Amino acid sequence: MLALDTRTIESCTVLIVDDDNVSRTVISTILSDLCQCVTVSNAPDALSYCKQQKPDLLVVDVNMPEMNGLNLCKAIKHDDDLDDIPLIFITGNVSKESQLQCWESGGNDFVSKPVIAQTLIHRVRNQLLSKLRMDALTTLTFHDSLTGLLNRNYLKQEYPRLSRQLMRDQQPLGVILFDIDYFKQYNDHYGHLYGDQCLERVAKILQQHGRRSRDAMIRYGGEEFLAILPDADMTATRKIAQNIVKAVYDTNIPHVQTVHSRVTLSAGAISTKAFDQDSLEDILDLADINLYEAKLNGKNQVVCK
Ligand SMILES: [Mg+2]
Repeated sequence: MLALDTRTIESCTVLIVDDDNVSRTVISTILSDLCQCVTVSNAPDALSYCKQQKPDLLVVDVNMPEMNGLNLCKAIKHDDDLDDIPLIFITGNVSKESQLQCWESGGNDFVSKPVIAQTLIHRVRNQLLSKLRMDALTTLTFHDSLTGLLNRNYLKQEYPRLSRQLMRDQQPLGVILFDIDYFKQYNDHYGHLYGDQCLERVAKILQQHGRRSRDAMIRYGGEEFLAILPDADMTATRKIAQNIVKAVYDTNIPHVQTVHSRVTLSAGAISTKAFDQDSLEDILDLADINLYEAKLNGKNQVVCK
């Protein structure tokens, strides 16, 4: 089942970015009872930290040499992977122009200097609360509630960005469409409760075979699953498909109404460089043709070409 993110504010990481040593210490001391604090002294370090660790919130000094807080904020808000991190400015200048600049650069809030501890704590708490709620909503929107795998919404949202990236890097995209063999008979024989359990077990096996964080395992339909494998050529895609089909076979989930007396998968797989951001349907059609052939050939197998 889908485990909703039950993170607490205390577990959240706040990245404090300030060129002034004393200021960094003051801010992190104020926030240290509320959440986890990490400090850096300049914007480039903040950017590289965000790319590696993804904090839950940034607290950023506006005035810093070289790259100031406003430009750091713009860089964060223009990065597809980082733009959901909220950002609070710390500013010594509360003129109308300065406030406008904070909002226009994409900041979520600001606190004026000298910092009043309780104000900073409340503003940070509010931003973290809405971040946690937004994260939970995202989890609900992009995951299948039974298996916890990603769902079609995720695919729709993610594919244009993924395909752009792969085209830019001239990398292939591997796609595998799986279907549980004789699943209707399974439900008819064992009942829907066991049918759901079967789907959960198969989903878990798929999840275990994802290579890295970029591989997406998706519940595509009732008993259909989809693996989206960036950078996977035909050989790698076929191998992953075969491993999963074998792993489901070896798990030996009883299904008395089949030749193998167990639950099996069929898979249609392809890898291609011939795609663009509108070609998802075409790729899925090709995978589906291969899946159909795997079914015709006797099921419990992979067709990849
Ligand atoms: Mg400063």
